[in-house]
This record gives sequence, C-alpha cells and structure tokens, in this order.
Amino acid sequence: MEFISTRGSRPVTGEEAVLKGIAEDGGLYVPSSFPELTREEMENMLWMDYSERAACILCKFFDEIPEAEMKSYTDRAYSRFTDCEPAPVIDIDGESYIMELFHGPTLAFKDVALTLLPHLMTAARKKFSNGEKTLILVATSGDTGKAALEGFKDVEGTEIIVFYPSEGVSELQKLQMQTTTGSNTHVVGIKGNFDDAQTGVKRIFTDPDYIARFKEMGYSLSSANSINWGRLAPQIVYYVSAYLDLVGAEQIDMYDKINFVVPTGNFGNILAAYYAYKMGLPIGKLIVASNSNDVLTEFFSDGKYDSNRPFHKTMSPSMDILVSSNLERLLFEMGGRDPAFVREKMSELKRFGMYSVDFDEIPEEFSLFEGYSATEEDTASAIDNFFETHDYLLDPHTAVAVSAYYDYLTETGDPLKTVIVSTASPYKFAHDVYRSLTGSDERDPFMAIKRLHGYSGVPVPDEIASLKYKELIHTDIIEKEEMPEKIFGILTQNE
Ligand SMILES: *Cc1c(COP(=O)(O)O)cnc(C)c1O
Repeated sequence: MEFISTRGSRPVTGEEAVLKGIAEDGGLYVPSSFPELTREEMENMLWMDYSERAACILCKFFDEIPEAEMKSYTDRAYSRFTDCEPAPVIDIDGESYIMELFHGPTLAFKDVALTLLPHLMTAARKKFSNGEKTLILVATSGDTGKAALEGFKDVEGTEIIVFYPSEGVSELQKLQMQTTTGSNTHVVGIKGNFDDAQTGVKRIFTDPDYIARFKEMGYSLSSANSINWGRLAPQIVYYVSAYLDLVGAEQIDMYDKINFVVPTGNFGNILAAYYAYKMGLPIGKLIVASNSNDVLTEFFSDGKYDSNRPFHKTMSPSMDILVSSNLERLLFEMGGRDPAFVREKMSELKRFGMYSVDFDEIPEEFSLFEGYSATEEDTASAIDNFFETHDYLLDPHTAVAVSAYYDYLTETGDPLKTVIVSTASPYKFAHDVYRSLTGSDERDPFMAIKRLHGYSGVPVPDEIASLKYKELIHTDIIEKEEMPEKIFGILTQNE
C-alpha cells in the first residue's frame, strides 16, 4: 500500500513511511486508502489470539511484508505483555467496559506500538538504509519516552535520544527513563513543557542543514512519536480486538455499534480508533476526553483550534499538550484529503497559534467525535468514586476518560455499550491516585506506592517496585534551545 503526505509530497511504501517518520514537507504519512475489514475476516478473527489478529490487520497496510513474517514480529512484541494479552477488556457493569492497555514492559499503552515498531523498522532498514544508522529522536510527555527506550534498547544500527520536560512528568515516569540501561539510549530533560520538546524535535526533522550534517555523520533520522505511521497502525488493532472480544463474550452481536472513550493528548490513540471506523468497525461515537488543557474539547464543539491559552500542569501529564500533532491527519480527512487545506491550516497554526474549521462545510461523518474535558477535581472524584463503586483502581488519564464518559451519558442517555480505554497503570501516578482516594499528600513516591497498595490491594507491578534499587544513569537537563547541540554532542562522543 502507498502512503501519502498530508501536505502533498511524493508517495512512499509503508516501510519507508515507518523509516522516515515524517515526510520531507513536514506533513504526516497516511494510507492512500483505507482497507476494508470484510465480514469474513471479522468472523475469522473472532477465533484468533491477539497476535494473529494484529498480523492480519497490519498486513493490510504493510502488504510488502509477508503475513508469516509479520506474525513473527507480533509474536515477539506481544509475548512481552502479561499473559501475551496486550488489550484485555474488563466488564464493569454490562454497559461499560475498560480496555486495559497497560500490561506491557513500561506500563502504558505506548508499549502496544513500541514493542512492535523496532521490528518494523529493522525490516525497513534492511531494504532502505544503505548502511546508514538510524537516529530516533523522541519528544515525550512521560510514557512514550520509556516505552521507546525499552523498545529500541540495544537494537543494532540504532541510536535513540529522548527529550522530556524536566518538570512535566511524574516522579516515577522520570525514574523509569533515568534508569534505562543499554548502550544506545540517551535521555535528556529540557527546561520547558512537552510542546517545547515536540516543536524542538520537529524543527530538527525538517531542517535541511541538520539533516545534511546527520547524513555526513552516517545517520538518518526517524521518529518513535505518534507522528510515525508505525505507531498508529498497531493501535488500530486493539479497537478491532476489543470489539471482537465483546462479540465473543456475547455482550454484543456482530455489527452492533459501540462507543469508545479515549483519553487524548497528541490525538494518536483516538485517531487509530477513527481509522478502525474507516475500515468498517461499527462505531457509534468516539469520545475525545481531555484534561484541563481542553483545546480539543473546544475544537470539537465549535471548530476553533486555539493553542493560545494557559498551559496547565495536571495529574494526567501525558495529556498536557496544546498542539496535538495528529489532528493534522484528521484535518486531512475533514478537508476531503486535500493537501492545500492542511497546508493552509498548519500555516495559520504556525503564524497565529490557531485556526478554525467550518463544521457546516465538512462531511456529516465527523459528528462521530464528541469532545469532553475533566478538571483536576473531576479527575480526582472519578478515581475515588470508581474505586468506591466498582472496586477498580483508575490511573488519572483513564479517570479523565471515565469523567468524560459520565458527562456524555448524563447529557445524551446514549444506550450503546461503551469501551473506556485505559492507558496507564495507576502505580505510575501513585502519589496523585493515593491523594485522590484519601486526601493524603504522600510526596515520597515509594511510600505512595506502598500506601496505595495497602489501600487498594492491587498488586504493584515489578517494573515499578524494582525502580527503587536501580541506578540513575541519565540525569542531564538542558535549555530547550540546546537540543540540536546536545544531539550532535552525543553522536560525536559515540564516534
Ligand atoms: C500518551 C498518553 C495519552 C495520550 O495519548 P495520545 O495518543 O497522545 O492522544 C493518554 N494517556 C497516557 C497514559 C499516555 O501515556
């Protein structure tokens, strides 16, 4: 299958799209068309395990990779999840369900794509790299960084550098990154927020001088952020898989519609749900849940995307984002796949920090999306109430989604069954989760873990428990302007 840039440059194959990460014109790669999930395929997939479902769906996009080869990648990736099950669906009350995406090596949903991406990239490198090494630059709001580091750790021919906002991630997210081993991993804090890190990385990606210098040093750039198509494709799978699991458990009939609620930051995860819809998955509504950085809530209510607003640091830091880069891919669809439409909106965003879309002029299809946001108070009460009512412990990101779901339900009374997407283990945010439950402000992260465990009885994952005894390896913190210099410094040291 061919992939085209949202801004119009020449088409590439799926493997090239993964290897490049972002198009030369600064646009994002999207499939040239959406392959259909036929009735027969849906019925066959009912009987498959997750890894088989993944291979079946991914080969529709990466048709240059034989299905047996893809299956060997998905097997290796998904064997790293508890019980080889990346997306178990938990029945909450027969109406709502939670899809738990946090049973991978770093305890956030980013693992579902980032355990697989290195395999896709290595396959692509064999065909396209001409002996160049791949330099993966990552901007992280907390979870992508660690998941990418673990995925690419010691992968041959690859160097990975992660930038995170030094004061903008949870204490445990930071420790997870700072203790990463591996000879090709680098982690750098910047004085700034996630948007600064993301802008810095994107700028380096599209600067011809930097690219030429990297080439001279024997590197070509790629991305492990959700701007990379290789991040989105594996995320389509779990929406289909959750649907099939509900059919298998006789909660719905094949072809009944269901809703998904997705806690959203960079718009990657929920975009994958939209792509599943485009492939034919019966979806009623996609509920876009934001925290108090509610730029997307406003966009889906009146078409105005305005990033000129205060940046709030919240207890769901992986959603503290004002410029959601994957919205560009949705704009591409809203504008009838016209690159000129996207270029115009993106240049307005660059110049004025805002743009708007006239919802009367775009297809009816986009009423699929509903935006809701949760304040910090809403988030804390969602954690507390949900534990009280359902004896189920939410992380703050998932709690934003739960709060959005109940707001939506109160407003609409929608009878469709709904899957709430759970994106992280509550233990990654032990301090805030424990405070939401008890009001007690336990600042020491390991004490908070202990208290949370005592209160909830939920087992502490090894990845979190073992952090206490790991050596801090990566402690650099720089100004955001120093990012390019830092990268060249790291590469020179490697020579
Ligand atoms: C990254 C992340 C999100 C936001 O996902 P997007 O794909 O950026 O919308 C939500 N929750 C958690 C825990 C995350 O790590």
